[in-house]
Amino acid sequence: MSETPLLTASALHKSFGDNHVLRGVDLEVRRGQVVALIGPSGSGKTTMLRSLNGLSTPDAGTLAFDGGPSVDFAATAGARGRAARAAQVARDAVRDRSAMVFQHHNLFPHRTVLQNVTEGPTQVRRVPRAEADARGRELLARVGLADKADAYPRELSGGQQQRVGIVRALALQPDLLLFDEPTSSLDPELVGEVLTVMKELADDGWTMVVVTHELAFARAVADEVLFLDGGVVVERGAPRQMFTEPREERTRQFLHRIL
Ligand code: ADP
Repeated sequence: MSETPLLTASALHKSFGDNHVLRGVDLEVRRGQVVALIGPSGSGKTTMLRSLNGLSTPDAGTLAFDGGPSVDFAATAGARGRAARAAQVARDAVRDRSAMVFQHHNLFPHRTVLQNVTEGPTQVRRVPRAEADARGRELLARVGLADKADAYPRELSGGQQQRVGIVRALALQPDLLLFDEPTSSLDPELVGEVLTVMKELADDGWTMVVVTHELAFARAVADEVLFLDGGVVVERGAPRQMFTEPREERTRQFLHRIL
């Protein structure tokens, strides 16, 4: 019996006004898998990622999480009553069991690192304070920030702040980690430390979908790479194949420009 995918998205469409940004994108993520979304700026990568956890609502397509009910966005857009509630349950499942790491970490400036990390678990997940603190410290230690628990975000480098952003996501104990270009706002010399942490998470078996411009990272860490252009997946496959022998001319051109 084949294992149920953790997340299945099919034929997602999304427009902003006249701008048809997603034009039928499919994505399947299996437990423990790392999927990288690459492609030129404006190709729809972030919109795709945000559609996976409800930050953006597609106009059409379906989404199912961990064998649960599938949301059909077109059918439920104006739905009421039972259909609307069923869709909400399915959407909540993804939202509750995934956590996003953003380009800008958005840490609360007037709270300590540990307070930033425990906010979600204590407020949203109702984890007792002592337990949230203990787990938060453990996670901070895991990314090399044990001694920063009581510091304020402004006392940290950009790379350290982004590592706290990652810990904040981990503290929610999600099944799925979503990364939206987590290194693109960092100075080049700080990128490596964040990618290292992400690689360790992948090695630890976390399931991850990563929007990234870091092609070397995608190549080294991803199990599958999707190349988006113009709101469609132009090519998907194992990184080794895609980076060495892309099947599509558009992929070849993109990789050639960027590498
Ligand atoms: P990428 O991540 O590949 O750079 P995005 O998904 O961020 O692409 O954006 C794809 C297109 O959608 C762009 O043209 C962008 O301007 C547009 N877009 C994204 N989010 C919004 C929004 N909230 N409102 C209007 N247009 C948006």
